[in-house]
Amino acid sequence: MALIDLFTRKPFALTPPAEAPEPRAWPEIGETWKPEGLRVAERYYNQAHAVVLVASTGQDPCGITYYLVACLGCHYLSTRTKYHSSYIRYALGQAAEAANTHASTCRALPRQLPDRPDDDTARGLLRSWVMAMPRRDLPLDLDLAEFDSGRLELQRTNEWICAELDALAAKRDDLLSARLDEHTGTVRFSILPPPR
Ligand SMILES: [Zn+2]
Repeated sequence: MALIDLFTRKPFALTPPAEAPEPRAWPEIGETWKPEGLRVAERYYNQAHAVVLVASTGQDPCGITYYLVACLGCHYLSTRTKYHSSYIRYALGQAAEAANTHASTCRALPRQLPDRPDDDTARGLLRSWVMAMPRRDLPLDLDLAEFDSGRLELQRTNEWICAELDALAAKRDDLLSARLDEHTGTVRFSILPPPR
């Protein structure tokens, strides 16, 4: 065998570990909702077969993905988990655990999924959230994650949100500023101090 053959042959298929679980299909109840701007990572079913979603809204500026948990039966929605004396955003494992815990006790029937709002309504929602944000004596970085608890309602992508924030910053430069972060190449928004 020529030496080159060693490099061009396909590697042997890896043998899966003997105890690897069979991939199981989720019970199919027809729920295929994929809200815009939310990447659904996992689905659980509550006691009445309503879906409990584990979904992400994207990555933070450091490239870390966080998750939220939302029940499509009752209105349970969680974006943070208690960690010692503070609340932190969910990593996938923590979100899955919270979803599973909720699903095992919730008996709410599947509710009507929210319709995707039209652009005017979505814009109004986003602006109302920005207006309601606390303002301090110094500019405050605005993290898109601040909107996580409204993303089931908003149903828009991060790109759409950034474009809207950019437009708002141009219109309300007393409230919001937009600047290009040279390190990440992304636009960062800040909530400005209130007028004196
Ligand atoms: Zn529930």
